[in-house]
Amino acid sequence: MYQHSGSVARQTAGSATGLLDPGTPDTEAILYQRCTWCGTAMYHRLLCPVCRGSDLRTERSEGTGTVRHSTVVHRNTPAARNVSLIEMAEGFVLRGRVMGPPIGIHSGDRVRLSTAKDPVRGEPVFQLVDETYRAWT
Ligand SMILES: [Zn+2]
Repeated sequence: MYQHSGSVARQTAGSATGLLDPGTPDTEAILYQRCTWCGTAMYHRLLCPVCRGSDLRTERSEGTGTVRHSTVVHRNTPAARNVSLIEMAEGFVLRGRVMGPPIGIHSGDRVRLSTAKDPVRGEPVFQLVDETYRAWT
């Protein structure tokens, strides 16, 4: 048996306190844009979709949201995974993956950010908020 010994040590220091640590790199959070004119929140846009304004400021999401739509890619294959649209608490929508059984993700499920950038696909990864997960098992 080949033993994989290169696993990265988990570094969760400071994340459980709920306090914003100014030393935390932004790769661990989702950054979004908010229009300074009308206040609309958006993700990866150069222009505000509402007022077409280009004066956007970057803000940091707190990482909680709700599943709006979920589909399973490569259903019935070992590589099955879900692709979900997540509406974040700040009001913008982004595409990401929710951990867990691919068919166990439903619209309305509450999720929170697990990893801002998946090392393989570079997409955000979410996990189900605990109470919701228990309700489906
Ligand atoms: Zn606007």
